[in-house]
Amino acid sequence: MNDTGNGQGNNTDNKELSKDFIRNIIAEDLKTDKNNGKVVTRFPPEPNGYLHIGHAKSICLNFGIAEEYEGGLCSLRFDDTNPLKESTEYVESIKSDVKWLGFDWKDRLFFTSDYFDKLYEFAEKLIKDGKAYVCSLSADEIRQFRGTLKEPGKESPYRNRTIEENLDLFRRMKAGDFEDGTHVLRAKIDMSSPNLSLRDPALFRIRRSSHHRTGDKWCIYPMYDFAHCLSDAIEGVTHSLCTLEFENNRPLYDWVIENVEPEFRPQQIEFARLNLTYTVMSKRRLSELVEGKFVSGWDDPRMPTLSGLKRKGYTPHAIRNFCDRIGIAKRDSMVDLALLEHTIREDLNDTAPRAMAVLNPLKVVITNYPKDITEEFDFPWHPQDANMGSRKVPFSNTLYIEQDDFMEDPPKKFFRLSPGREVRLRYAYFIKCNEVIKDEKTGQVKELLCTYDPETKGGSAPDGRKVKATLHWVSTAHAVKTEVRLYDTLFTKENPMEEKEGDFKSTINPESIKILTESMVEPVLAAAEPGTRYQFERLGYFCVDSVDSTKEKPVFNRTVTLRDQWAKILKQKGQKKGG
Ligand code: ATP
Ligand code: MG
Repeated sequence: MNDTGNGQGNNTDNKELSKDFIRNIIAEDLKTDKNNGKVVTRFPPEPNGYLHIGHAKSICLNFGIAEEYEGGLCSLRFDDTNPLKESTEYVESIKSDVKWLGFDWKDRLFFTSDYFDKLYEFAEKLIKDGKAYVCSLSADEIRQFRGTLKEPGKESPYRNRTIEENLDLFRRMKAGDFEDGTHVLRAKIDMSSPNLSLRDPALFRIRRSSHHRTGDKWCIYPMYDFAHCLSDAIEGVTHSLCTLEFENNRPLYDWVIENVEPEFRPQQIEFARLNLTYTVMSKRRLSELVEGKFVSGWDDPRMPTLSGLKRKGYTPHAIRNFCDRIGIAKRDSMVDLALLEHTIREDLNDTAPRAMAVLNPLKVVITNYPKDITEEFDFPWHPQDANMGSRKVPFSNTLYIEQDDFMEDPPKKFFRLSPGREVRLRYAYFIKCNEVIKDEKTGQVKELLCTYDPETKGGSAPDGRKVKATLHWVSTAHAVKTEVRLYDTLFTKENPMEEKEGDFKSTINPESIKILTESMVEPVLAAAEPGTRYQFERLGYFCVDSVDSTKEKPVFNRTVTLRDQWAKILKQKGQKKGG
């Protein structure tokens, strides 16, 4: 099912009129002075991959809330409890993506690994209170003993070890006396609880692996369910916002807080994660795409990562706008990719300078135009925004137009160039096609011989005659050859995860990238800096690639076409444009 989100406007000025259930809870807590009037949130990524657009939803929610309330705080906390998968490369990329989105953690940059000593002490406290024990079953046995949703679990034979024995074993686990997997520290809760996460969950495990920050100091690491809630408590997080799959773990979150009794008691609240059509969203899956070389890297413009979207030409403004539009709900849903594309199109429509580029060039010779003259036309960078100024575009007797803009035998509704037909060249002249020159061997159209009407300078005829099409063009002698990369969805299926056995890779779109090497752009674009965005007239929005583009050979990525699927979807639904 596709959901368009709640579509309500942002309402940050009036806190009484909160726009989603989480802000309602916060407003209520502030009324009752639950946390002494404080609002503290956190964005807690595990540094095991690059951030994706789903994380943007969480970032906008957490940092957004902190900005909305006076004195509100939001930390960036790296949840780095699994040394096997984590690295500083990921830490750095995550920091830069959060900044790129326009958020600031100020002095609140935290790492769960900074709390390892405290977390260890908390665990000892549980042991001393008889609420945790060292279990020496193997991982397989623990799984078997856990039971199922229908059957209660069985108690571990190690469950009734004495406090002294548990303390001794736990200290020796820390000291490195045991092999990986030989012992775990478990909470002593309830092996027959209907909630599986309460069946004596693991709190600490032995894992001999170098950590990206603590090096070889530790050989035991805390589990997520133990570390996360206590990190929240240490940081004084008032509202710990996480996605719905943690709903089952909330009783465990609360159990740890109640039994460890940290000074501060945070509250976990779950919201629906973002799912997008034609996209997979988990870091684990995305890392499979990178490692399997299905894409060129985490920042491949086809990836739903923030670095991929950025490289494709997305703006932080559009992504924040998108997150605002989809809203925050308690029910999982699938958001249409067309809404994301609509949002970037809307942004770039206002902000991107216009330019002319010919993706698939066809040569046009204007036989009555002087051979050795170059005229310069003054083109505005933006039709509605005079502040953006203008640039000079050269015109000469030989031009490129788009192959698609010519048909030798046009069907009824084709109004562009064809033999005997007159069209307008954008801002320049009317031209008429008189002759088609073909390749002798292949029969392909090689060149068009046209004439221009000098009276139509600027694009209109003094006698009032009309033409039905306006074409974009580039002067051959001045054109800059570029590479253009056209992107389509990375997957052919709306929900790639619905494939048998989750085989999402079998739905990869073989046409997700199309590389054009003969494209031509107007001369000023040769100097465009990486990351600069343009609308190529009549074609779409494009961005100078930040990795492969060079002065000698610029590379442009297509951000999005001009075709607005979202407007169409809304029309079908009978709604107004705009989400
Ligand atoms: P992934 O499966 O992609 O690794 P995760 O939840 O394991 O996702 P974390 O690094 O733990 O990744 O996520 C950091 C925060 O971002 C968490 O609070 C998580 O709930 C949130 N988050 C992750 N994916 C989404 C999503 N698709 N929509 C909204 N929030 C998300
Ligand atoms: Mg994860």
